[in-house]
Amino acid sequence: MPHFHHTILAAAMLAAGAAQAATPTPAADAGPNTSARQADINAIVGEISPKRIEAYVNKLVSFGTRHTLSDTVSETRGIGAARRWIKGELERCGAGKLDVVFDGHLHPVDRRIARPVEIVNVVATLPGTQAESRERMYVVSGHYDSRRSDDADATGDSPGANDDASGTAAVMEMACVMSKHKFDATLVFMTVAAEEQGLYGSTDFAEKAKQKKLNIAGMFTNDIIGSSVSDDGKRDNSQVRLFAEGIPAVKELPDATRTLIQTGGENDSTPRQLARLVKEVGERYVPNFKVTIVNRRDRYLRGGDHAPFLDRGFAALRFTEPAEDFNHQHQDVRKEGNLQIGDLPQFVDPAYIAQVARVNAAALASLALAPASPADVKIITAKLTNQTDLTWAANTEPDLVGYRVVWRDTTAPLWQHSKFVGKVTAVTMPLSKDNVFFGVQAVDRDGNVSPATYPMPGR
Ligand SMILES: [Zn+2]
Repeated sequence: MPHFHHTILAAAMLAAGAAQAATPTPAADAGPNTSARQADINAIVGEISPKRIEAYVNKLVSFGTRHTLSDTVSETRGIGAARRWIKGELERCGAGKLDVVFDGHLHPVDRRIARPVEIVNVVATLPGTQAESRERMYVVSGHYDSRRSDDADATGDSPGANDDASGTAAVMEMACVMSKHKFDATLVFMTVAAEEQGLYGSTDFAEKAKQKKLNIAGMFTNDIIGSSVSDDGKRDNSQVRLFAEGIPAVKELPDATRTLIQTGGENDSTPRQLARLVKEVGERYVPNFKVTIVNRRDRYLRGGDHAPFLDRGFAALRFTEPAEDFNHQHQDVRKEGNLQIGDLPQFVDPAYIAQVARVNAAALASLALAPASPADVKIITAKLTNQTDLTWAANTEPDLVGYRVVWRDTTAPLWQHSKFVGKVTAVTMPLSKDNVFFGVQAVDRDGNVSPATYPMPGR
C-alpha cells in the first residue's frame, strides 16, 4: 500500500475501521509527531497575560504623547520617557537572559521630520542556544511612537493605545515570557520609533541587517492588534489578519522571482511559506482563534514596519485586527456630538491583544526550535517524467531527524498532504510535478517543522 497520502489514508482507515480503533496506525515512516502540542510552547502560550498587557498599554498611554519629535528629557512625558521605561521593563523581566539595547540613528530633516532627531529602537535579543542555529534569527516588532491628526504635532496628547501600544505591549509580554525558555535560534523582540513618520526605525534596523548579512529567517510586525470591534460596532474576537506578500512590485525582477513566476509559484514566496506555518502553528496552540491570511502586502493606503524588511528580501508579515475603527487611530482625542474620537485605552481589548500575542509566540517558539528551511531545494527537470524528483542540501542541526515533503493542488492555498521521508537529500514522489506544488520542510526530533522551501527547477 502506498503511504504518500497520509491525510486521505487516515480518513479512509478511520471510516473503515471506526468500530475497532480510535486512532489509525501510523505508517512505519511517519516520523515524529508534527501535530502534537509541545509542553514548552503550551506553557509559553499559557503564560501570556492580558492583565500585564493591559498595564503595559496604560503605562504607554500615560506618557501623553510618544510622537517621534516629542520631548526626550522629561521622565513622565514624551517619547524619551517611554523608551527608557520600555528598556527598563525588559531589563527587569529578562534579567540575565535578554540583551536589551537602544539602537539609534540621527535622522536628517525631511518632509515629515522638522528637525534632525534621534530615532531610537529598543531591541531585546534572546540568543539561541544551538551553535548550528544561533545565527538564524526571528524578529518580532511593534512601534512605540504615536501620532495625532496632524502628523507634525509633537506636543499635543496622542495616546496611541491601539496604534501601536497594542503591538508594543504584545512584544514586551512575549519578550518577558519567552526569555524564561530556551530556543535553538535567536529571537529579537523590537519596539521601534518613527513608524508614523515613514517607517524610519524599522528601515534603519532592516538596512543594517542587510549590510551585516544577518540571517533573519522571519519577521512579524504587530500594528493595530488592539481591538476586536469594527467601526460598525460588531465584535469579532475570533480571528486576526496576517498580511503576506506574494511577488514584490519591483520594476526589475530578480532571477529567483522570475523563476517563481515561470513555474507558477507566485503563491509560494517566502512570506507566503512563512504565513502557512504561522497559521498552522498558531491555530494549533490557540484554539478557536483563526489566523486569516490575506494574500497582499498590506491594506490599501497603509504601510507598516514589515515593508522595509520585505524590500530587503526578508520574509516579513503583518498582524492586524480583523476590522479597524478609523475613529480610533491617527485622530486627536475629541468629542463629535456623542461620538468619542481618538485612540484611547477604553477602546482596546487586552484579552484580544493576548490572543494575537499567543499566536505570535507559538509561531516564534516553533520556528526557533525547528531546523532551518532546507536550502538549495530542486525539482529535477532533466527528462520528461510523470513523477517528481526532489533534491536538497543537508541541514546541519544535530537534532534534525529528517525531512517532510508537502504538496497541494495548484489552486489550493494551504498544504494538503505531507510525507515524512527520513534523513535523505533526494526523493522521488509518485506524483506529477506538473499537477501539484511541492515544498520541502526540515523536521527535528521533537516534531518542530521549518517553513517549506519551494523547489526551483534544476538538472
Ligand atoms: Zn501603526
